[in-house]
Amino acid sequence: RNSCVSDSSDSVISSGSDSEGQIYKVVLLGEHGVGKSSLARIFGGVEDSSDCEETGNTYDRSLIVDDEETSILLYDIWEQDNSGWLKDQCMRMGDAYIIVYSVTDKSSFEKASELRIQLRRARQSENIPIILVGNKSDLVRSREVSKDEGSACAVVFDCKFIETSASLHHNVRDLFEGIVRQIRLRKDSKEE
Ligand code: GDP
Ligand code: MG
Repeated sequence: RNSCVSDSSDSVISSGSDSEGQIYKVVLLGEHGVGKSSLARIFGGVEDSSDCEETGNTYDRSLIVDDEETSILLYDIWEQDNSGWLKDQCMRMGDAYIIVYSVTDKSSFEKASELRIQLRRARQSENIPIILVGNKSDLVRSREVSKDEGSACAVVFDCKFIETSASLHHNVRDLFEGIVRQIRLRKDSKEE
């Protein structure tokens, strides 16, 4: 169907990714069409291929945040296939999660809550960093979810919240810096 399918999934799932320093695995979750791949491509620095709808991809990048470098492996594989196995794997593999909905799509917002609950169930007592993302903030006239609803939801689910526009690159950098900071916070509190 498309010419740019990546087949990174096999190696990705099985890799331990621990050889040289620590690489943190961040997994994108959310309904189809909310902008996961758009955000991932910006992160990966390959946003030009927007007409190429991959079925799954991973992006490896180091970010310098607050003068410190952190390596992130970003997984955009949630929709790769419909096997329960892969979804299950996604819920288990992440060191941190980005749950995306579209502010123009109420049902994607409801789905985000479901995903948060699923994640909590899968990871029980673990205190994993999660950022709830309301994407497509540029589409002012078709907005169905207010910023207040988004942030209230994040409070209930005990996670961070940010609105982004992948199209305008608005807040995308803040999102990924935020996830790095969250990861560091959890790591530091574990070491104490
Ligand atoms: P995914 O299915 O979650 O991976 O979503 P995609 O990244 O493939 O995006 C779905 C559609 O929404 C594409 O047509 C994107 O160009 C569009 N899109 C993604 N992010 C934004 C955004 O912030 N603003 C607008 N207006 N469109 C967006
Ligand atoms: Mg996608």
